[in-house]
Amino acid sequence: MKERMYELIEILNEADYNYYTLDNPTITDQEYDKYMRELIEIEQEHPDWIEADSPTHKVGGKIIDSFQKVKHKIPMMSLSDVFSESEVLAFGKRIEKENIHPQYVCELKIDGLSVSLLYEKGKLVRAATRGDGVTGEDITHNVKTIKTVPLKLKEPVDIEVRGEIFMNKKTLEELNETRKRNNEPLLQNCRNAAAGSIRQLDSKIAAQRKLDVFMYHLPNPLDYGLNTHEEALNYIKKLGFKTNPNNRLVNSIEEALQFIDEKTATRDNLPYDIDGIVIKVNSIKDQQKLGFTAKYPKWATAYKFPAVEVLTKLKDIIFTVGRTGQITPNAVLDPVIVAGSTISRATLHNEDYVKEKDLKIGDIVSIRKAGDVIPEVVEVKKDRRTGKEKDFEMLQNCPMCNSPLIKKENQVDYFCPNANCPARSVEQLIHFVSRNAMNIDGMGDRIMEDFYNFGFIKNITDIYHLKTHEKDLIRLEGYGEKSVTNLLEAIENSKANSLERLIFALGIPHVGEKTAKILASKFKTLEALQQASVETLISISDIGSIIAQSVYEYFHDEKNLKIIAELKELGLNFTYLGQDIQEDEDFANKTFVLTGSLEIYTRDEAKELIENLGGKTSESVSKKTSVVIVGANPGSKYNKAKDLGIEIWTEKEFKDKINK
Ligand code: NAD
Repeated sequence: MKERMYELIEILNEADYNYYTLDNPTITDQEYDKYMRELIEIEQEHPDWIEADSPTHKVGGKIIDSFQKVKHKIPMMSLSDVFSESEVLAFGKRIEKENIHPQYVCELKIDGLSVSLLYEKGKLVRAATRGDGVTGEDITHNVKTIKTVPLKLKEPVDIEVRGEIFMNKKTLEELNETRKRNNEPLLQNCRNAAAGSIRQLDSKIAAQRKLDVFMYHLPNPLDYGLNTHEEALNYIKKLGFKTNPNNRLVNSIEEALQFIDEKTATRDNLPYDIDGIVIKVNSIKDQQKLGFTAKYPKWATAYKFPAVEVLTKLKDIIFTVGRTGQITPNAVLDPVIVAGSTISRATLHNEDYVKEKDLKIGDIVSIRKAGDVIPEVVEVKKDRRTGKEKDFEMLQNCPMCNSPLIKKENQVDYFCPNANCPARSVEQLIHFVSRNAMNIDGMGDRIMEDFYNFGFIKNITDIYHLKTHEKDLIRLEGYGEKSVTNLLEAIENSKANSLERLIFALGIPHVGEKTAKILASKFKTLEALQQASVETLISISDIGSIIAQSVYEYFHDEKNLKIIAELKELGLNFTYLGQDIQEDEDFANKTFVLTGSLEIYTRDEAKELIENLGGKTSESVSKKTSVVIVGANPGSKYNKAKDLGIEIWTEKEFKDKINK
């Protein structure tokens, strides 16, 4: 672990140099934040290892000699960062623990570079970068070219004010268009463009760059008789500084979360980039009570927006065997936070997919959550290859039972053909009891694996004989009498499930949840479905020839018929108990996408209602989507729906259409 610590220090120091000194980052901010978090965790576990000059303890960049150095009278600090709602709440809790119940000022975190402006008798005498927090660089000649920096204040005061220099998105676009025409390298983003412009020796270049500024901090407000951060902001505005119109005073950390939600949804409409929200304790007295660490104030924090797409390392590709014997390659990733949750695995679907993306083990890849839920590898960053990456090789034998894999003609997937392959059997059992199938509470993946390995359950009918092992179960470590009773009861209760659950649970190839429901509601009993010919099956809308053939074959396999007969004997319900699909003009043959948090229905209820009225549901918005139903705090799907001009219903409108 110590070796990893040194490795991280090296990565972060190099990134700092490229970012702060050369204004040319070589890794993304998310990667940087991820490495920083890892280093912080190692240091917290081993405080005796901490190096004096660790990147976790120092602010920002190195100073280059071309600029005159300036010492900040009061150090310019960084901000602690948080990445989720729960971390924001934890920040609030830490403050309340000190018996402080503050108001907070919420501000946009402008993605530029910080600047300190010094005025004597109301006249600008010096502008400086933050540098390493103690020493910065004199950039007065360039800052004077920024139109929104007042050279003379409304009052002849001596004052230092801090803020952020930034470049508008449109300015960056125009600048890059010119650079493209001149065959010059393009500037990566607004922050680097602003930092690069302000650190030009020739102020003519800076002047052309149309930089702008928002001022947000007075380091010593008490000296001016100001007792809150809000008063300080009003005061500097009165002096002639540009402050951000979005700043908002709130009464609790929960209200700060609302501000975050609001700004997350509308940030794309701003003419400049923001990378988060800064939350600051309003009372200066409280700020003083809370104090500072070596790197940042304890009275403020920066919530960073979750990245929709982040880069990470593809550490390995491993294979899993599904219940039908299908072999799936999976990406093992260096864990990374994507849209709020940690991702360390992503499916790579099949050999063709890996080859199309040209993935090699060791590559840096970009990850995103498809439809906001399922992690997906988007692309490989070929420019980050080092030559040490390893080629991907498809397996030839099943990783569980070693049977040679087969690939059917015209299909992309490989299969383990061994019907008794332990991996396949366990997956089938896990599928049978899963939430959307027979929904047997208390029978998770690991428990099923245990029961399989102990020999209690080898096939699905054994699930309903589990009670014969009751005594053995109670004796197992981690399974008390109560949990065993509950489990056996859940198994017993599942016998009464409506037919569509059983059809889905049987694991008939190509029969998913929706198809199971269609079949159950059409045939009403399992016996009727068993008798159906391929022609009858195909005649049902939404049932194609592949599904029809698969269903037919399943019910004409002796082995399956034996299982079904045993299930009947065990008393499982074989009848459809659900509502018949009653097509409704608002829903029939339309595709619906749900986004945001619903308050009237659960997601499963909403989906069921849509399906009962003849509609379909999908996870992602595309041109084929008919309607998007929007709950509270909708995400990117809502914006996409608006962009594509798709019909949007609120949850209330959805309810009204159902009740109609
Ligand atoms: P930071 O950017 O996370 O936060 C502090 C800064 O926020 C302040 O110094 C100030 O400049 C700015 N800010 C903007 N609006 C503000 C407001 N309203 N109130 C107060 N401050 C405001 O911290 P940092 O120390 O400047 O930079 C660290 C971050 O920079 C890292 O977390 C990483 O995301 C990025 N970084 C990236 C690389 C890379 O290689 N990609 C390298 C170094 C740093």
